[in-house]
Amino acid sequence: MSKKWIVGVDLGGTTTKLAFITNDGEIIHKWEIPTDNANEGKNITINIAKAIDEKLKELGQTKDNLIGIGMGAPGPVNYEKGIVLNVVNLGWPNNYPLKDSLETATLLPAAIENDANCAALGEMWMGAGNGAKDLVCVTLGTGVGGGVIAGGKVVQGINGAAGEIGHITAIPFGGAPCNCGKTGCLETVASATGIVRLARMELAKGSPSELTDKIAENGTFTAKDVFDAARNRDELAQTVLNEVSFHLGFVLASIANTLNPEKIVLGGGVSKAGDILLNPVKSNFEQFAFSAVRDSTKLALATLGNDAGVLGAAWLIKNQLNQ
Ligand code: ZN
Repeated sequence: MSKKWIVGVDLGGTTTKLAFITNDGEIIHKWEIPTDNANEGKNITINIAKAIDEKLKELGQTKDNLIGIGMGAPGPVNYEKGIVLNVVNLGWPNNYPLKDSLETATLLPAAIENDANCAALGEMWMGAGNGAKDLVCVTLGTGVGGGVIAGGKVVQGINGAAGEIGHITAIPFGGAPCNCGKTGCLETVASATGIVRLARMELAKGSPSELTDKIAENGTFTAKDVFDAARNRDELAQTVLNEVSFHLGFVLASIANTLNPEKIVLGGGVSKAGDILLNPVKSNFEQFAFSAVRDSTKLALATLGNDAGVLGAAWLIKNQLNQ
C-alpha cells in the first residue's frame, strides 16, 4: 500500500494546483491547471479528473495506483456534508456538493476542506508544525486566512466558518473597509494589500521614504518593497512595520490566550519577509500573551510555501481512509 499515491488539490480562483503524494508525505509530482469557473463552475471537477488521467498516462501509471483525492477550496466548507457554502468567484451556487461532484468525476473517494485549513493541516503534517496536534496557521497573502487545529482536528465551527482569523477586528474604530463588508479586520492591516495601504497613508502625510523612489520607477510598490525599505532603516517603512506587528501580535496573543496552541505558524507571501516581520510580531505577542501561554506557545514561520495546501488536502483523505 505504501507505494500508492494520494491526489492533493489546492483550488484557487485562477489556478488549480495538483500533486501526487505518497502516504508519508512525499510529493511525487506536482503541476497546475487553469481554473475554469464558467458554466456555474461545473467544469472545475471535470477538468481536475481529466488532468489526473492525462498525468497518469504521461507518467505510465494507472488509476489503480491512486488511493483517493483531497481538495482545499476557498470559502467556508462543511467537511462532514462535503459541501461548499458560498464561493462567489468560482461560479458555484451556494451549498455546492463539491465532494460528490469530485467523486463522480474522478471515481475516487474524496474529502474537501477550506483551503486555509488545508494549509494548516499541511504544516501540521510535513511543515513547521512538526507534528504538533494543537496548531494555528495564519496565511498572510493578498488576504489573511486562518486554520485552527485542536487535538489534531480542524476546528470547523457550527457553519464551517471557524478560524477566520483575517476577519478578527483589529481596529474597532475608524478601521478601513474589508472585503467581507466589515471594517478594521486584521486583513486590512496584515495582508500584502493592507501593508501597501498603510504605507500609502504614511506617504500621504508627506514623510520622506525610499518608497517614493519606487513609485517614481514603477508607478507603484509592493509589501516586499516595504519590508526591504524597513531593512534599509527607512523610517516610514519601519513605522508601517511597527503598526502591522502590533496588530498581528495583539490578535495572535488573543488567539493563543484562548487556545494555548503548541505553535502559531505564519505562512503566505508576506511571511517570506522572515525575521524582520517575525521578531517584532513576537515581541508584541509576548506583551499581550498570558504568562503560561507566553512560556509555551511558539511562533514560527511556515516552511512548506505553496505546497502546504496540496499536502494538507492529501492528509485529509489519508486520515479519513486510515491509510
Ligand atoms: Zn473582514
